[in-house]
Amino acid sequence: MRILVTGGAGFIGSNFARRALTGAYPGLDVTGLVVLDKLTYAGTLDSLAPVADDPRLTFVRGDVCDAALLDELLQGVALVVHFAAETHVDRSIESGSDFVMTNVVGTQTVLESALRAGVGKVVHVSTDEVYGSIESGSWTESHPLEPNSPYSASKAASDLLALAFARTHGLPVSITRCSNNYGPYQFPEKVIPLFLTHLMEGRTVPLYGDGRHVREWIHVDDHCLGIALVAAGGRAGHVYNIGSTTELTNLDLTRALLDISGADWSSVRFVTDRKGHDRRYSLDFTKITEELGFRPRIPFADGLAAVARWYEENRAWWEPLKKERLDPV
Ligand code: NAD
Repeated sequence: MRILVTGGAGFIGSNFARRALTGAYPGLDVTGLVVLDKLTYAGTLDSLAPVADDPRLTFVRGDVCDAALLDELLQGVALVVHFAAETHVDRSIESGSDFVMTNVVGTQTVLESALRAGVGKVVHVSTDEVYGSIESGSWTESHPLEPNSPYSASKAASDLLALAFARTHGLPVSITRCSNNYGPYQFPEKVIPLFLTHLMEGRTVPLYGDGRHVREWIHVDDHCLGIALVAAGGRAGHVYNIGSTTELTNLDLTRALLDISGADWSSVRFVTDRKGHDRRYSLDFTKITEELGFRPRIPFADGLAAVARWYEENRAWWEPLKKERLDPV
């Protein structure tokens, strides 16, 4: 099977590409894998280095808004896994236009091109943030979309487009909505790599507001496993939540990162809360468990310790990114 992975030089897309090429997904027999990525500040070819010599991998630098390029790349492709997006909530609060362009127009372009090419399956990778914020209980897939940030609003719009393509055109597209990911190769502006690398550099870490916001953390390998299951057996026009049940306040998460790093609370500075900061996310992922046999495999404490080791051992990956692409924070 020939696969197109959009955003495959980013955190989760590169994980999916690396694992698909190393045979992690028996349901997906990969004969060719094309990564289409614009290489924005968030993307780097270094994240594909472990599979760079695989003859099945082709990298194309380009934009998901480029219909002609997509039409060319989708010839003979059986599966599209659409990761490409602007993803950092804080940046979407500064300015939302790149988010609308890539996340909404880019998704529309991918869907249209997949329809023209007669692609057998599209997986649109979305987020739990489209549901908004929940005080208690967990969201099922039928919960109304109530996004609060420009990022999550643009992702909700792209989800609705994907569902419209399934209903109107019969495009075989499924949507995944996953909780917060952690793992190796995550760009160091996101909280876990930001805190780990700041602590390694002997810097303080910025914690938003009262730190009591709750997130559900899942290892990126488990997320990508769920995506592969949906690619192989997910129903067209259906949404699948992918979660872990590991809910932590940001204070809990910070404590765990301080412990792993051998630091204490004197390394933490409380900063003004993010505008419109969602209080809690929580997914009910019974559907993917019952239909496709999904179960997260990596216990959070083990996964976090391994990720901390990875950042310790892979300074050559993150130090230049931090120096060249991030303002001091
Ligand atoms: P990321 O920011 O690490 O990577 C995004 C990639 O997309 C980058 O390589 C970037 O260069 C590329 N890209 C951006 N604009 C593009 C364009 N116009 N054309 C082509 N490529 C473009 O993001 P990530 O964390 O890997 O997230 C991937 C997907 O998973 C996103 O759709 C995101 O909404 C979703 N998701 C992320 C999380 C999470 O915790 N990180 C959780 C749930 C869902």
